[in-house]
Amino acid sequence: MSGCDECMACCKTLEVHELRKPNGVECVHCSNGCMRYETRPQSCRTFVCAWLGSQATARPLPAEFRPDRSGVILGELDTGEPAAFIEDALAPRDGPIWQFLRTLTRPVVIMVGNDREGLCE
Ligand code: SF4
Ligand code: SF4
Repeated sequence: MSGCDECMACCKTLEVHELRKPNGVECVHCSNGCMRYETRPQSCRTFVCAWLGSQATARPLPAEFRPDRSGVILGELDTGEPAAFIEDALAPRDGPIWQFLRTLTRPVVIMVGNDREGLCE
């Protein structure tokens, strides 16, 4: 099964409430790996993005969709809506993961930092 390996996209892009780290801000403990791995917050220990979660299923998302490769972290909002958290708002949105997102029947909310940019169309 594939795992996070060198990906640290969630450490750079997503909120960590214990650290008061907002979405879109790189964690201060990010370096070549987590510099406080043994004492990292609980939410860091339990977070599983949709790509990682899919790896244990019969239909794993492809390796190129891993967030550090695709620039997109798939997850969901507190509302339960599927969401794509993106690190670089200016990056092109024409790669395979974007084509995949446009095929989904439930619209995916695009999140840039704390801002809800709109739906992926
Ligand atoms: S974004 Fe997903 S694959 Fe990357 S480090 Fe976080 S949980 Fe692992
Ligand atoms: S504490 Fe470590 S695991 Fe948690 S966001 Fe920061 S670098 Fe990532």
